[in-house]
Amino acid sequence: MNSNKTVLISGGAGYIGSHTAVELINAGYDVVIIDNLSNSDRNAVDGVRDIVGRDIPFEVVDTCDRAALRAVFDRYAFDSVIHFAAFKAVGESVAEPLKYYQNNLVSFMNIVELMKETGRPNVLFSSSATVYGEAEVLPVTEQTPRQPATSPYGNTKQIAEDILRDCCGAYSGLNGIALRYFNPIGAHPSALIGELPRGVPNNLVPFITQTAAGIRPMLSIFGNDYDTPDGTCLRDYIDVVDLAKAHVAAVNRMVGARMESSYEIFNIGTGRPVSVLELITTFEKVNDLKLPYQYTARRAGDVPAVWADTTRANEVLGWKAERSLDDTLRAAWAWEKHIRNIK
Ligand code: NAD
Ligand code: UDP
Repeated sequence: MNSNKTVLISGGAGYIGSHTAVELINAGYDVVIIDNLSNSDRNAVDGVRDIVGRDIPFEVVDTCDRAALRAVFDRYAFDSVIHFAAFKAVGESVAEPLKYYQNNLVSFMNIVELMKETGRPNVLFSSSATVYGEAEVLPVTEQTPRQPATSPYGNTKQIAEDILRDCCGAYSGLNGIALRYFNPIGAHPSALIGELPRGVPNNLVPFITQTAAGIRPMLSIFGNDYDTPDGTCLRDYIDVVDLAKAHVAAVNRMVGARMESSYEIFNIGTGRPVSVLELITTFEKVNDLKLPYQYTARRAGDVPAVWADTTRANEVLGWKAERSLDDTLRAAWAWEKHIRNIK
């Protein structure tokens, strides 16, 4: 393995990590996947292997376990790490803040510390549009001020961004990129990997696909009295394969040492706002089915609208979202049918 062309993926059995593994391999990288399987299944790694047609090193490791992580750093040669490993349920983070601060921050500090200790240069961090909160001006650019976090989960993203900025500033040779994802949705077109929410999904698209599959009797639209064109919230839904390719572009940038400074931030979205209602009607249209839905009260903590200005990612990373919402929602349904054995 050539260390310059090898990427360690923490949380690589998860939703975004598994898709990123595929795109990195398609782009000529080797990957090493680690995951503690706390929110994923080892079948996802087999799905990645099936798509790329070759074996991939995978180890069950908790990134909070420094000694186990150190052993991975000693065993494999890699220059770049993509750190996906984190808990991500906003509501649960409010109920169990320590669980979130512990897992999301200790794991990230272990990664950065071991990179410093072992002289690894490139780290890419999964941040989130949640850092923008309810922005005054839309779309949001990377310069839009962050708002105080409204959940411990959101706070872990802000703190981790700051940790990365400070460490890249202090330790020469360490490069960091934070990608602020908007709303990742969809699945790989092969339907061999996709999102696997545990229990009742919080996110809109898995709730839609589970409703279409008959697992949920009714979809709720949380509020239709927002100050938006159809009264429902606006979001920027980014196809997970496009999102995965943004990671490849960011790794290329770090490996090619084309960073303007040692720490950079990029918004990763489509730049197009889509309402909850538009998303549902598009899903119905492209998959030729009807969804039972009702309007209910607003969900606490939801912002009315947020979408990305993606100019920086377009120009500096040379990356742009390519897949249409139609294709993305077809893929989301194909994946749900695959895991439920629906013909
Ligand atoms: P996911 O839960 O599918 O993937 C995360 C993976 O990390 C899981 O496989 C889980 O088992 C693993 N993991 C968690 N803690 C770990 C630990 N201590 N050690 C090893 N593995 C651990 O989630 P995802 O949607 O793929 O999200 C990936 C990253 O992107 C997360 O950091 C998440 O916060 C961030 N993010 C996700 C979204 C989204 O809507 N999906 C949006 C913005 C940011
Ligand atoms: N939403 C909804 N019904 C659901 C789940 C979500 O109406 O069952 C709405 C939610 O209010 C928000 C949008 O869908 O406006 C996206 O929510 P999601 O939880 O997927 O992502 P968020 O933007 O909150 O991170």
